[in-house]
Amino acid sequence: MISSPTFSTSRNQIAGLPIADLVSRFGTPLYVYDRSIIDLRIADLAAFDVIRFAQKACGNLAILDRMRRQGVLVDAVSAGEIKRAIAAGYSTDPQKHEIVYTADIFDAEALELVLEHSIPVNCGSPDMISQLGERKPGADVTLRINPGFGHGHSQKTNTGGQQSKHGIWHTQIDDCLRRADQHGVTITGLHMHIGSGTDLEHLGEVCEAMQRVAMEVGRTVKTISAGGGLPVPYKEDETYVDLTKYFELWDTTRNTLSKEFGHRLSLEIEPGRFLTAESGSLIAEVRSVKQVGENLFVLVDAGFNDLARPVMYGSHHPISVCGKSSDASEREEVDMVIGGPLCESGDIFTQREGGFVDTRKLPMCRVGDYVILENAGAYGFVMASNYNSKMRAAEVLIEDGEAKLIRQRETFEDLVRGEIIPS
Ligand SMILES: *Cc1c(COP(=O)(O)O)cnc(C)c1O
Repeated sequence: MISSPTFSTSRNQIAGLPIADLVSRFGTPLYVYDRSIIDLRIADLAAFDVIRFAQKACGNLAILDRMRRQGVLVDAVSAGEIKRAIAAGYSTDPQKHEIVYTADIFDAEALELVLEHSIPVNCGSPDMISQLGERKPGADVTLRINPGFGHGHSQKTNTGGQQSKHGIWHTQIDDCLRRADQHGVTITGLHMHIGSGTDLEHLGEVCEAMQRVAMEVGRTVKTISAGGGLPVPYKEDETYVDLTKYFELWDTTRNTLSKEFGHRLSLEIEPGRFLTAESGSLIAEVRSVKQVGENLFVLVDAGFNDLARPVMYGSHHPISVCGKSSDASEREEVDMVIGGPLCESGDIFTQREGGFVDTRKLPMCRVGDYVILENAGAYGFVMASNYNSKMRAAEVLIEDGEAKLIRQRETFEDLVRGEIIPS
């Protein structure tokens, strides 16, 4: 699995189903998820004791349900995500630890929900230990540690180091233990999620930091979590991480600690992107093809209201074309800019970090063709907005050769729900 992927610039099918059929049934823009790819990625991580899905990457109830049926547990970063997990059938039995609340603060609603359902908490700030302890003396907590360095695919996804708001600074364990003692709180686990885009050289340092902090907390530690951050390739020159080595590094740390403490520690991993990114595609329809000076613009009916990663991070998504009336694979490939419908010049899918407009070599497009934005299954639909009063797209899950609607396209009524014109 260390190989690089190959991306094709044209395609007619997703998961064996004709794109034209999907569009005629569900319309565009349309998010489509291929269940079989999610299952493959779950299988890749089988060596870990617990796979905990970071649902913020792709939170549709149907996706959570399928994760649950595969034995994948879930992470929740807000009250809404706790409710989502419960709605998808996850148990709140405190023994099972199926849902964990991981955050840097409790807002009022999250704290009440955690108390109501006895949801395990992974504290990202020392204040959380005291706030939970005051309301629930004797609680068990885990700590999210900032080891003092981080690694993200962009500054906005870097989750360790002094610039990061996430986690408890690694030198403040003593303070945490004191806060815990005040309320009879026990620290039963440690967690480090240092950023999206982990590489292996870096990981050795993370494991060392985990070991050091665990020794400081002591024998009450029963679980360690490697966090998320496993990369997926978005370009042909990018590779998967060597998962065997990745597991070995963490397993060695776990085994060292198990020996020190005299009990076997459980090893968790908490991926978001890795589990769902490659399963998802956003299908858009070409609505205009126009020459603007030197540039050929292909404008589609999906925008950054549907997929925000390119405008937010300059992220690169593989793109392919599906011809409406002729096979796109037989067409000449030309450089083009792919843009959306929004009244904002940044609404471009082919851009680099910093907002520089790029071109992509793709089969010549005509109005009515489809453009497929691939690897859009993580941080795709979940970051969608109603900007420009756009209705959010429908979502479809393909499993067992069947396309199933898992979220209706929004309507105008959805759009204005809650809005009030005072008399
Ligand atoms: C976002 C997040 C993850 C998942 O990150 P990926 O890069 O998608 O794997 C895991 N854990 C926590 C606490 C997160 O906030």
